[in-house]
Amino acid sequence: MDTAIRTKAGLVFLGPLTTAVPESERSVSYQDLDALMHSGVQPQGIYLRAVPHQVWRKWLNRTRQSDWWSLPVFAEPALRDAQPYVDALCSVERAHEITEGMALRRQMLPDPGDVLGLEERLLYFLYERGPQTGFRPLLDRDSDQLYRYPVAEQLACAQESVSQALEELRRRGLLRSEGLVDRTRLCSGCGSAHIHFVDVCPHCQSLDIRRESMLHCFACGHVGAESQFVEGGALDCPKCHVHLRHIGVDYDKPLAQYHCRSCQRSSVDSMVQARCLDCARTSTPDELEVREVATLMLSASGRQAARNGGVGEAYPPLKARNYVDPQGFKRMLGWASDIQARNPQFSFHLMRMELEHKGLPAQQLSPWQITELLDELAVRLNAQLRESDLITRVDEHSLWVILPYTMPQGLQSRIEKTMEKLAEEEGEAKRLALSVHLRSMEVKAMNDGSEAPSASNLMRKMQADTLQEA
Ligand SMILES: [Zn+2]
Ligand SMILES: [Zn+2]
Ligand SMILES: [Zn+2]
Repeated sequence: MDTAIRTKAGLVFLGPLTTAVPESERSVSYQDLDALMHSGVQPQGIYLRAVPHQVWRKWLNRTRQSDWWSLPVFAEPALRDAQPYVDALCSVERAHEITEGMALRRQMLPDPGDVLGLEERLLYFLYERGPQTGFRPLLDRDSDQLYRYPVAEQLACAQESVSQALEELRRRGLLRSEGLVDRTRLCSGCGSAHIHFVDVCPHCQSLDIRRESMLHCFACGHVGAESQFVEGGALDCPKCHVHLRHIGVDYDKPLAQYHCRSCQRSSVDSMVQARCLDCARTSTPDELEVREVATLMLSASGRQAARNGGVGEAYPPLKARNYVDPQGFKRMLGWASDIQARNPQFSFHLMRMELEHKGLPAQQLSPWQITELLDELAVRLNAQLRESDLITRVDEHSLWVILPYTMPQGLQSRIEKTMEKLAEEEGEAKRLALSVHLRSMEVKAMNDGSEAPSASNLMRKMQADTLQEA
């Protein structure tokens, strides 16, 4: 499909033409998806007429895997089983409205053909559909995790894992949960939610336990399951063989207990084992991973990431007062560099702070912990920076600062002290595992002041210098 030479159309209709189809829809109706794809038309949205389940499923899957992957797909209200998979079951008028709204939002986004990774595609898909839309979970007893996200699944290629991508986006704060639907428990071995709970003997883990009433023989003190005392219709103590006649005189009945027929021991409580039906792993219930199932919506940083066309630079905004997003930071850096080239008396520094692992693998912090630490550092830098300084984060372990008219030496040592103090407060483990690398340089025009270095050049040079040092 070559989208460049296609004629633009709004909503198009897929399915057999009947006499009930109004004149206005006839010219944009196609018998099936192949007819539409060969028509040379670039639709803005697709409306499914009543066709059998297998047919619309196939059309929908093919659309989501094509260049048209992000287009809205609607269906007639009669196609009730299409509900979890399409944008809406709705009237043609409503479908037109939604399609137009999406076409407007799409103008702020990169070309869908340029959006490659699954994570980016998921964010883009939600952005186009507006802030009220999220990926809804569907209960499906056949799926590993008991719930799946059918719309998100259609966007993935065969080798991509949707559940992993969604979990990762949620962890990074690009998606947020809304409306708790359920809480599942997943096997810590394989992640399956198909867990079977059984009670077993706490002594020998045998399955062969029974809840039985117990007898207590007053003559010898023996306590055992009632069944052990029954002898030819009467009660005899299996230990001292005394004939037990009267409750309260010869014997009494303590609380019912579990009796194990494998090890013959009794216990007040049984033990609960969680058995994974998929990988056969046995664990205790509290070893299972608890997962909250909810609708996943785009967060503010997720929207920003979708507009920027990538999750690579999308980290939650820093809590610093002087924070600007990475794109804004690069623009300001280029702008300042231009001014400096024309007015040599304007001086400014570019500074880069990088958190670095230095611990043993066992002490390694997760990327998430580092991101959090960097956030905390940024908050503390508020006290060190001036109103006119700008700070940003472009990846999970480094901060960049533009410092106009500042001699960074004094600042550098103050920042290092701040970092040391933070690491100390965070505890021994993090203090040992992390070090901060700090570098700054004065930005000056090249070739005798005639050429202003670009922002990307400056940042690349500084990154390379840091690498050389390390
Ligand atoms: Zn036992
Ligand atoms: Zn006895
Ligand atoms: Zn398992």
